[in-house]
Amino acid sequence: CGIIAARVADDATPFLLDGLGRMEYRGYDSVGIAVRSAAGRIETVRSVARVDDLRALAATAPAADAVTGVGIAHTRWATRGTVREENAHPHADCSRRISVVHNGTIENADRLRTTLERQGHVFRSDVDSEVIGHLVERALRVDPDLMLAVQIAVAQLEGSWALVVLDARDGRMVAAADGSPLVAARSTRGDFVASDVGTIAEWCETFVPLRDGDVVELGEAWSWSSEGIAVPVPFPTASPFAQT
Ligand code: GLU
Repeated sequence: CGIIAARVADDATPFLLDGLGRMEYRGYDSVGIAVRSAAGRIETVRSVARVDDLRALAATAPAADAVTGVGIAHTRWATRGTVREENAHPHADCSRRISVVHNGTIENADRLRTTLERQGHVFRSDVDSEVIGHLVERALRVDPDLMLAVQIAVAQLEGSWALVVLDARDGRMVAAADGSPLVAARSTRGDFVASDVGTIAEWCETFVPLRDGDVVELGEAWSWSSEGIAVPVPFPTASPFAQT
């Protein structure tokens, strides 16, 4: 029921865990966090317990290599699929290159999943949200641009979403919203996306709510107006970052 994504200078983990703690009031049945490692892997820790338990798990999880300042985290309030660790977010695609957090409900998930499974995609959960990562993975096979891949993926979704997609290969993150709230912010501490202002208010002063249909990239490729405000890219406008 809540999302936070961070692109900061050092380890993203403390920012994500603090953000999750501030979203507890929204209610949840499971929590999870995924941080990109320096070697380009995604280190995921998920739990059906509380945020404090996830904090303890994250502290003891064996890190294969150094983590980076790029990560996503989620509190889940199940709408599809039972409450179990495999159904907690973040969710990965087949190749574990893509990691996704999603709030909302994907109404046509069953139909999309049937098609994707016929095409060889292997699912690891029974959550509607998992189709998003597989749709992004499929689009990336045609064109390696993550922004474009997320635009193509959300165009196939019916329902409601606030989501962030993390690409382990290069650490790019793209957020999208339709029918579920998401705010974007940039500050001296880094770039953030969250379900509400309170989650990231400690680190940011200005916030931009995403409009329904928006797809934006966190980080350097983000466009900012003279007021320091993000200018989200409304779908289906082609990504101005595609050539960078
Ligand atoms: N539909 C997704 C699930 O059941 C997301 C639920 C949420 O918004 O937390 O996992």
